[in-house]
Amino acid sequence: MSIPNYIPQDQKPAARGQQLKANSQQLKADSKLYPQKPKGKWHNRRVVFSVAVLSILFITPFINIGGQPILLLNVLERKFIIFGLFIGPQDYWLFGVMMLTFMVMIVLFTVVFGRLWCGWACPQTVFMEMVFRKIEYAIEGDAGKQKLLDKAPWTADKLFKKALKYSIFLAVSFVIANLLLAYIVGVDELSRIVHEPLEDHIPLFSGIVAFTAIFYFNFAWLREKACTVVCPYGRLQSVLIDRNTITVAYDHERGETRGKLHKNEIRTNGDCIDCFQCVAVCPTGIDIRNGNQMECVNCTACIDACDAIMEKIDFKKGLIRYTSENEIERKSGKSFGPRVWGYAAVLLLLCGGLVGMIATRSDTQTSFLRTPGSRYIENKDNTVSNLYTFKIFNKTNRTITPTIRLNAPDGTLLFAGSPDLTMQPAGMAEGTVFVTIPKTSLPNRKTVIKMSVYQGDIFLEDFETTFMAPQD
Ligand code: SF4
Ligand code: SF4
Repeated sequence: MSIPNYIPQDQKPAARGQQLKANSQQLKADSKLYPQKPKGKWHNRRVVFSVAVLSILFITPFINIGGQPILLLNVLERKFIIFGLFIGPQDYWLFGVMMLTFMVMIVLFTVVFGRLWCGWACPQTVFMEMVFRKIEYAIEGDAGKQKLLDKAPWTADKLFKKALKYSIFLAVSFVIANLLLAYIVGVDELSRIVHEPLEDHIPLFSGIVAFTAIFYFNFAWLREKACTVVCPYGRLQSVLIDRNTITVAYDHERGETRGKLHKNEIRTNGDCIDCFQCVAVCPTGIDIRNGNQMECVNCTACIDACDAIMEKIDFKKGLIRYTSENEIERKSGKSFGPRVWGYAAVLLLLCGGLVGMIATRSDTQTSFLRTPGSRYIENKDNTVSNLYTFKIFNKTNRTITPTIRLNAPDGTLLFAGSPDLTMQPAGMAEGTVFVTIPKTSLPNRKTVIKMSVYQGDIFLEDFETTFMAPQD
């Protein structure tokens, strides 16, 4: 792979943009990358962190609270459980505010810390760099050996290595597909496919096969292009980060003018000795010295590679490090611009609103309306009746058998047909009911009546509706 040219930091934005575009096109033209095996302090930290991320990812679907999973993302039925909080189809407003809060949180986090998520916690990076790439290095060796193997004729050894690698890739993809479905349908549903006849679970089995194929394609072939071409978050970087954002960056003030290191020279160049080690380890194939680029997932491999070189030639480490453009150029400490404070204020407001919504949320949601076209009925016993149609939505993940009560004024309810209102999780019950109230309690033509919903003696919700009566 040929190396893109250095782009001076003070180059005019238009020219710089053109150069970056040319570089990225050049990278795309190179079909397969062979990044060298990363090693060093930052890589070790990432290994420890990745083990924690993978443990959390695999353990979470098995954690239950009160008989329900702690996290369920059933997009098919629009049912979600987030840290024990059930969000059904009726709670679309709560889900919408949660998504908005999450997005503002991501924006704020990115403005301050850049792509820390991509480099450390994103499942794509964690699986790619810490699982699939490690398998590849173990079977085929480091970058140079991989390149030679790909160029070599199809011998028994090459066939064995390739078959072994892709078989393991397929097996791991199958495990990840099951993991994803455990988050969507839950582990109980997933385990049924093992214990019950397969023909009863064709859609679920098809889902496992489809996701296995998608993950296999992603990790065996697509690889870094999932981050550099497909992922929308990566494409948003240019608008999210600014000169105060902390990213993996090359200290061009210290490194330039770059130049090879020669024995016994009195060095007049910068600290970059143009060894290309930072480029050789980069899993997305870029040159960090060209400045911030959309393709950089902040994986820290180039920090380790450069630090190892600096140590070897007895230069100060940190030529590539976590820092911001302003810190490099002004040598100033970290500072947050007004954008950060603005996003933080919006996030605080949204969090406050979210807490309020969750705290005041009821287990049911009832619509109780006078039946269109119906009038009041005057009864012989000096009472008045109105006919209502009602719908009750169960917003929980458990079965509820609610009762409706008239609180004020006093009166009676007479349900049409069976009054069994038992509702399945996230289910709904509906019916019609006559509300009858003594005339003496109805001084006006229109009276607001107060009602409530109970489960046994447990209060669930109250609401109001209007009652029509004749005016004497
Ligand atoms: S430039 Fe450095 S941090 Fe960015 S992706 Fe390449 S190796 Fe990782
Ligand atoms: S590893 Fe460091 S010294 Fe070598 S080319 Fe990259 S920035 Fe320069």
